[in-house]
Amino acid sequence: SISTVGFPVEVGHLDLDHDDHEYDLDRLMVFGRGFFDGSLSVDPADLHRASVDFGGGQATPAKLMAVLRPGSVNDVVKLVKAAYESRRGFPVSARGHGHSTNGQARPYSSAPGIVIEMSNYNNKNVMTTMMKPPNVVIDGGDHRGSYVDVWGGELWIEVLKASMEHGLAPKSWTDYLYLSVGGTLSNGGISGQAFNHGPQIANVHELDVVTGKGELLTCSEEQNTDLFHGVLGGLGQFGIITRARIALEPAPQRVRWVRVLYSNFHDFTKDQEYLISLHGKPNSERFDYVEGFVIVDEGLINNWRSSFFSSPRNPIKFTSFGVNNGGVIYSLEITRNYDESTSHAVDQEVEALLKKLNYIPSSVFTTDLPYMDFLDRVHKAELKLRSKGLWEVPHPWLNLFVPKSRIADFDIGVFKGILGNKTSGPILIYPMNKNKWDHRDSVVTPDEEVFYLVALLKSALDSGDETQSLEYLSNQNRRILNFCDEAGIKVKQYLPHHSTEEEWKGHFGEINWERFVKRKVEYDPRRILATGQRIFAPQF
Ligand code: FAD
Repeated sequence: SISTVGFPVEVGHLDLDHDDHEYDLDRLMVFGRGFFDGSLSVDPADLHRASVDFGGGQATPAKLMAVLRPGSVNDVVKLVKAAYESRRGFPVSARGHGHSTNGQARPYSSAPGIVIEMSNYNNKNVMTTMMKPPNVVIDGGDHRGSYVDVWGGELWIEVLKASMEHGLAPKSWTDYLYLSVGGTLSNGGISGQAFNHGPQIANVHELDVVTGKGELLTCSEEQNTDLFHGVLGGLGQFGIITRARIALEPAPQRVRWVRVLYSNFHDFTKDQEYLISLHGKPNSERFDYVEGFVIVDEGLINNWRSSFFSSPRNPIKFTSFGVNNGGVIYSLEITRNYDESTSHAVDQEVEALLKKLNYIPSSVFTTDLPYMDFLDRVHKAELKLRSKGLWEVPHPWLNLFVPKSRIADFDIGVFKGILGNKTSGPILIYPMNKNKWDHRDSVVTPDEEVFYLVALLKSALDSGDETQSLEYLSNQNRRILNFCDEAGIKVKQYLPHHSTEEEWKGHFGEINWERFVKRKVEYDPRRILATGQRIFAPQF
């Protein structure tokens, strides 16, 4: 049941044991000629690109020997095996689209490492990898139905496009689609569908993984099960995902997209929790997507992510919804998918569900658009921000899973407290059901049946306003974490960033930490992979 790719004997001659990294690199380059199907680059521009990420705030540049653009799965095997077999070892980091915010996709060690560029988009945003495009299989023959096999570095937008050609689509999403399959499966992958379908990691049938020993293993619920669950949400610690088999469903044609506002946090969360309790019900009796925003700052309701509500000429005022200065407003965002054949029923069904909710009556905003446009909505915002030079700025993001029992305390302490009516980016908030998450996966969530994602998606600006600076916003994140700690709110970081082993132990909890360490010893004993997560101290 284990498929292991044979390894060419030349690796034995690579002899990457010299103290001088330049020497090692030379050896790799020499053997790399004709050795790798792709290319190994030492071009400073490539090294620079591979060492920065969306967070943009790393203080020290990564130490990089080279960037590998794999031309085949075998290239990934060869490189990891070379790192594993060399006497001294060197770190290897898979990089998806580099949309981490704390250097997770680059090596972190005193020895220079190599980045494997899994998603190789060039400047014109064209995929230049030699990898096979997504392969859609309609009704795969077993009870699991249709699926798509994709390269681990594939971006979700490409997975969507390929699936839609067959009238199909993955079930669970992230808000933004220019993220790689391997990158999001290493974390979880969540959006407003997670209450119903679980995170993206709950919608994967099978993976091909190159472990830290350089073995290529196929893993699933049936074979190499521990590796399968270890890799899902495993922060890249146990292997590099080279192929993922992702569940598909018939793609809806259109989306009815509704936003309503609340001034009362209790009403807002009660309605969100009611809506996610409808998971598993027939489509006609629930929404397909449930998210929400916290708007602590009047300016933000009219910004890019909320342009839905208003036009620049007709800005929305908090006071028009009975919210005084200093107040906070909450926006519930829900969608219903439908096809032309069911369009006649949509109005009534949406109306019936809305009647059960307690929002501010005058605050219903509705729009209707093709499914693809809805899923790709954040990309439009990206293009707008890029045109204003506001995309490539530091992003000190903080993503937290907050247990339902303490979300009201979080509201008082953070949204109405620490943020002080001022934010520097959207704040997402939506609940999920823990029973849709597989406890065997590596990702950790709070110990409650329902928990919320709170995503503080901040952009730091060099505007002269101290409260928009990277330092201020990073400090504010620390204050939020301290507040939770002191108030006993047992949050878990999503896309976690910790610096000490103690913090990681606290993140995982004792039992999960033991399992995580055991898996590391088993699958990446030399601690070669994803050192940028800073979980295990590198040994070279
Ligand atoms: P990278 O940053 O390249 O890598 C992340 C980690 O995964 C690194 O440790 C890397 O070594 C490892 N890795 C990368 N590829 C592989 C592989 N093939 N095999 C094994 N390990 C690998 N997340 C959500 O869940 N929901 C959202 O709605 C969401 N929206 C986002 C919107 C934006 C604008 C941004 C910037 C991020 C968003 N994210 C969201 C977070 C995102 O899912 C993570 O940052 C994810 O890691 C990004 O994928 P990437 O391909 O850029 O990964």
